[in-house]
Amino acid sequence: PPALVWLRRDLRLADQPALHAALSRGGPVIPVYIHAPHEEAPWAPGAASLWWLHHSLQALAGELEALGATLTLRRGSSLEQLRALVRETGAGAVYWNRLYEPAITARDATIKAALREDGLEVHSFAAALLHEPRELATGQGTPYRVFTPYWRAACKRGLERDPLPAPSRIPAPPSPPASEPLETLDLLPRIRWDSGLAAAWNPGERTALERLQSFIDDGVGAYAECRERPDTDGTSRLSPHLHFGEISPTQILRALRQAGYEPTDGPAEPFVRELGWRDFAHHVLYHFPHTPEQPLNQRFEAFPWRESAEDLERWQQGRTGIPVIDAAMRQLWETGWMHNRMRMAVGSFLTRNLRLNWHAGARWFWDTLVDADLAANTLGWQWAGGCGADAAPYFRVFNPQRQGERFDPDAAYIRRFVPELARAPARNIHQLRPGLAADYPAPMVDLKQSRKAALDAFATIKQSG
Ligand code: FAD
Repeated sequence: PPALVWLRRDLRLADQPALHAALSRGGPVIPVYIHAPHEEAPWAPGAASLWWLHHSLQALAGELEALGATLTLRRGSSLEQLRALVRETGAGAVYWNRLYEPAITARDATIKAALREDGLEVHSFAAALLHEPRELATGQGTPYRVFTPYWRAACKRGLERDPLPAPSRIPAPPSPPASEPLETLDLLPRIRWDSGLAAAWNPGERTALERLQSFIDDGVGAYAECRERPDTDGTSRLSPHLHFGEISPTQILRALRQAGYEPTDGPAEPFVRELGWRDFAHHVLYHFPHTPEQPLNQRFEAFPWRESAEDLERWQQGRTGIPVIDAAMRQLWETGWMHNRMRMAVGSFLTRNLRLNWHAGARWFWDTLVDADLAANTLGWQWAGGCGADAAPYFRVFNPQRQGERFDPDAAYIRRFVPELARAPARNIHQLRPGLAADYPAPMVDLKQSRKAALDAFATIKQSG
């Protein structure tokens, strides 16, 4: 009987354990994608993610077709659709690769039990990370909350394994089950704000591998030096490809090694360590599933956040009057991505200078990032908010002026995304000289005063904690 491969965020053919295992049975294999965003609530994918998903599914369908298979698309309830497909095709087994978000792990456990009760074989695999969240624990057997010892343990356990080869052919059943047309999944935005995304990105496994190769050829050697500079192309920009599983970290390590780089030593080490942060984020989310909603450091529950829809909107729209913050927020809106250093800077600005709750920032990122990832976004926002695992202490307030001077010295990044400032000299931009441009707003807050107000507010919970 045929086997179903239930594809989720593992939209690739190489190093694809579920597909590989299904093929090793020797019978027909039916790849299936079921669109069920409500099952991920309250973190159903945001608009930019859905845009990516549309194009990634399109690319995958093409790759599958070249191997003789058809991608079956369905929507609705995952369990009902899997059962329907079993009935329609006579499938005897279902294969998938594991994910680690709380809503998804709960759903998958229910589905696994239900299908087994139906008499089916069900197999799930590790495919997304270097180590699964349960593979590492402290000496006391508890989960890690601090990155450095986590990463030491991960490296000691070993990071590298052999990636699985991509299949050269996929045997299809005599008549593949009916598929919804991709358009009916309704993944693209109705108001077409996505032209910036299309100009910046090309989703799919093939382009993920190309991007990796060009990063290894041109970027990884200078990563340590350039990674903090938003005005350069200093990082890999693999994050959305990794999120959708178009490429695996195992493949990345193998490609680095083949190019002569030692993953945990020398120029590639700081880059591989970031893949370690990605794993760590999943470890923290898996073991502390409340963190998307609540601070890991409970003391922060009592923090006196301000509320201001108007201030939030100015931050979202990149109209704060602080050039480096506005450039970053507009980069996000235009391209669906923001440089890591800038994510930290806009996070600090929102939670310190505006004293707005990190949740509001996390939600905005969730809807606008093409790499929106519950594990990394939660860790990043709790870090920025000062209330998470291994977080920036709340009393550390980024000075956006200095961030601009240090990391965008010629203001090239700022001018690219804030065209009103195209003619202003870099020095005036960084020093926030009044009247930078006629159509550019004055700073919405005084950086010094707002910093002090944030530290005073922090003192109130320090005393109570
Ligand atoms: P590179 O520097 O080339 O790093 C390689 C890979 O390592 C990345 O693709 C990513 O998968 C992983 N990685 C790098 N830094 C981190 C990190 N700090 N935490 C976890 N994984 C990391 N990353 C996301 O993938 N999705 C998010 O939703 C997300 N939200 C964030 C929110 C905030 C407030 C902050 C401070 C960071 C957030 N990050 C998030 C982490 C980081 O900013 C991005 O992963 C990185 O900018 C992606 O660019 P890159 O692929 O060029 O990274």
